[in-house]
Amino acid sequence: MSIIQPKYISDIRNMMKLYAPEYYRDFVCIADKCRHSCCIGWEIDVDPLSMEKYSAITHPYGQTVRDSIDTGSDTPHFITDDDDRCPHLDSHGLCRMILNLGEDSLCNICREHPRFYNDTLRGKEVGLGMSCEEAARIILSSDKYNTFIEIGDTDEEIDVEYDCIPARKQLYSILSDRNIKYSDRLAMIYRRFGVSPEILDDDAWQQLLGDLEYLDDSHRDIFSSVYSSHAHVPESIEKCLERALAYFIYRHCTGAESDSDLRISLGFSIFCERLLASLAENDPSTDITEHARVLSEELEYSPDNTEAIKLEFLF
Ligand code: SF4
Repeated sequence: MSIIQPKYISDIRNMMKLYAPEYYRDFVCIADKCRHSCCIGWEIDVDPLSMEKYSAITHPYGQTVRDSIDTGSDTPHFITDDDDRCPHLDSHGLCRMILNLGEDSLCNICREHPRFYNDTLRGKEVGLGMSCEEAARIILSSDKYNTFIEIGDTDEEIDVEYDCIPARKQLYSILSDRNIKYSDRLAMIYRRFGVSPEILDDDAWQQLLGDLEYLDDSHRDIFSSVYSSHAHVPESIEKCLERALAYFIYRHCTGAESDSDLRISLGFSIFCERLLASLAENDPSTDITEHARVLSEELEYSPDNTEAIKLEFLF
């Protein structure tokens, strides 16, 4: 009879699987071909471990890295230039830190973007955030949102009690049934989970959208004038909406901590899908991937905006 030592037991418990939607493997940063680089317009914080690493770099570029970080504020961050570009982004859209010091030199945020993580009872899940144009392209062109693959192990602590997976399975099962009209599938989800964007009328949603914060103020006018819970788009675009809603559910409902938390996150997901439909209906000449990227950047990546929308589903 073999004896398992207590430490070994605890190691087994701590080693959880890391899962991702099948399309995750298709992602590669398109770097210099990216039209909306994440290295422009964002303040990039530098984590403590990377700060330590940077203080020890002996390569001549190490001093350039150290000089490029503002350490005077609460969280050290790269000082962007007058055009809001990361100081290490060269004129060809490539990262000078990678060119000089290799990929391992990247700080946490740069290494991880556009990935996000959620904990579940079965392990950790990783996804791609839609504010990245290449991620948006992959998400909106893949029907494999309901197929998950194991991509490794994680020994990070997972502290979850609520099991969101059964609800997500039900949502995906309704959402992916293309024998049913898309609008009917949405109505089934609203009924089954007791959540509807019609909790507010279109005028009230437009008012709320007008009051949010925006990275680009021109989006305020667009979002707040086009929103409709009853937006209609051609069938070919409906498939993209279906995939987008699957993404919003994957990203926002998976971390839910209770039934009511799940309902609120589902409300946010449904609202984002309706706004995307409204943007696509209003401006069909712009690729829906671009509408999705902008929506994600303005709403999903702003905790304040996300919270303001979620509040409307708090009942
Ligand atoms: S937005 Fe996406 S594709 Fe563009 S530079 Fe950033 S990670 Fe790469």
